[in-house]
Amino acid sequence: MVILKYYSVHAIQHSQGFAVTKTIAEFIWLAGVVGWYVIRHPFVRKSRKTAVSKSLLDWREWALLAIASFGLSVIPLTYVVTGFPATLDRPFIPTIAWLGLPVLGAALWLFRRSHVDLGRNWSATLKVREAHDLVTTGVYCRIRHPMYSSFFLLGLAQLLLLPNWLAGVAGLIGAGALFAFRVLREEQMMLELFGDTYRSYMAHTKRIIPWLY
Ligand code: SAH
Repeated sequence: MVILKYYSVHAIQHSQGFAVTKTIAEFIWLAGVVGWYVIRHPFVRKSRKTAVSKSLLDWREWALLAIASFGLSVIPLTYVVTGFPATLDRPFIPTIAWLGLPVLGAALWLFRRSHVDLGRNWSATLKVREAHDLVTTGVYCRIRHPMYSSFFLLGLAQLLLLPNWLAGVAGLIGAGALFAFRVLREEQMMLELFGDTYRSYMAHTKRIIPWLY
C-alpha cells in the first residue's frame, strides 16, 4: 500500500514536472514569435514611407513568404495551441529544450541587428529603394544575408524547443525554402544595382555562415 502510494505520488510529480517543462519550452518559443513581431513592426511602419524604385514582388515571392510563415509560425502555433499532430510527438528532453533558449536569443539578436544595419534599405520582399545604399558593415561585414541566417537560427530554436517532428522541423523547411529560392534572385538584383561594388563585396563575404558558406 505504502509502496503503491509512493509510486502514484512519484508518478504525479514526475508527470507534472514533465508537463511544466514542456509548457515552459512552448512559452519560450511563443515569446520568441512575439519578440520577432515586436522587432519587425517599427521597420514595417517606417518602410511604408520610403519610396520604392523597383519591386520584384510576384506570385513566387508571395508563395515563399507564405511557406516561410507557415513553417515558422502557423504550423508550430497550431501545435502549441492544439497539440496537433500528436502522432508526430517526440519525447521531451529538457536539456535539448534548454539549448533552444540561447539559439532563440541569438536569432532575435541577429534579426534585430540586420534590420538596424539595413535601415531604410530594408524590405520584407525583394525591392530597391530610392537612393538605395549598399550596406557592408555591422552584421553585413562577413555575411551577405544575416537576416536569413537569423531565420535558420529561429528554425533551429523551434526544432530544439518543440517536441514534435512536424512543428519542430517546419521552421527549418520554411527558412530553407525562402533562402534557397530567393537568394540568387536577390544577389542578381544587387549585382544589377551595384555592379562591381557588389561583386567585390561578394568576393570577401559568405552568404549565411561567416568564413564557411
Ligand atoms: N538578404 C538580406 C536582406 C534581407 S531584406 C539578409 O538576409 O540580411 C531584403 C532586401 O534587402 C532586398 O530587397 C534588398 O533590396 C535589400 N538588401 C539585401 N542586401 C543588402 C545590402 N547588403 N545592402 C543594402 N540592401 C540590401
